[in-house]
Amino acid sequence: MRTEIPSRCRVPHFVGNKEIKFTEKDVPQPGAGQLLVRVHANALCGSERPQFFDGTPTTPGHEAAGTVVAAGPNTRTAVGVNGVVFLMDFCWSCRSCRLGFTNQCLQKRGDMGLNRDGGYGQYELVHESIFFPVPDEFTATEGTLLLDIMGTGGHSIERCQLMRPDIESVLVLGAGPIGLGVLAMAKIILGRHIKVFITDVVPYRLKLAEQLGGLPINVSKASLADGLKSHGASHADVAVDTSGKQAARQDGHNALAQRGSLICVGHGEGISLKISPDIIAPERSVVGSEYFRFDEMPANLRRLTQHKSYISQIITHRFGVEDIQKSFDLFFGGETGKVVIEQ
Ligand SMILES: [Zn+2]
Ligand SMILES: [Zn+2]
Repeated sequence: MRTEIPSRCRVPHFVGNKEIKFTEKDVPQPGAGQLLVRVHANALCGSERPQFFDGTPTTPGHEAAGTVVAAGPNTRTAVGVNGVVFLMDFCWSCRSCRLGFTNQCLQKRGDMGLNRDGGYGQYELVHESIFFPVPDEFTATEGTLLLDIMGTGGHSIERCQLMRPDIESVLVLGAGPIGLGVLAMAKIILGRHIKVFITDVVPYRLKLAEQLGGLPINVSKASLADGLKSHGASHADVAVDTSGKQAARQDGHNALAQRGSLICVGHGEGISLKISPDIIAPERSVVGSEYFRFDEMPANLRRLTQHKSYISQIITHRFGVEDIQKSFDLFFGGETGKVVIEQ
């Protein structure tokens, strides 16, 4: 059934050099195992920087929420169901997927919004396996919180717990949207009493972090060590780097005591370590954390139900798709939390 679905639609076209125009594309028809989703919200992400600066023929957007408007053969999701789209089009059948490590699929079919048309278009074609239904009590914009904010943030906290079962303090490096998500999920998963130090150089972001219960450290004004001291601490049990900057990773690693762990979430630069004094003797670790597992979604949906007003503070701006240029200009200006395109 394809009622009231146009055959063509107008979609944003990232032409490069920070310019977004509009173009027309065919609205795809769902094949076997696929759903066509009418997107109602898609959140902006710092990882879209290359698409915004260099341009892409793909329609970006990997934090989409919307409504199923057509379902292909061999699907069980009804037309009218609301939900969110997982970024990675994983296979469900490889060794990783069979064990639940769907963020480490060995034969991934694609990445939505990166090499498959994503959520800034009105319609997004997805495999049913990566569509997670969300109850109607949540708006599409609230639904997007389940993706990079709660999903990526929560997964990094689970990686921390894996390395360090007795966490009393967390240091978050970078207070962009992912850093704010890590902070919020540390508070939600580990408890409000956990100290979460959070660094940045943008006062707007540090204020937002403080509003979420974080202990802000402006690293353009003081060293990380002095910042920790100002909050009565000398070390953190775990550090989560969302900045992708080598200097931040080094600082974060230096702020760990024995048994500490540095969790790297932000892609980007490297880190330089001396194996004996930095890793072996203090039994510290450096661990990667990539997106999240699809099966983390149900727990995060329960957390969203319990903590909706708290975590929704991370969304600071909403724009219609006509204002997508303005929204990207503002977002990469640095003075926002999460920005969402609604349509
Ligand atoms: Zn993202
Ligand atoms: Zn797989």
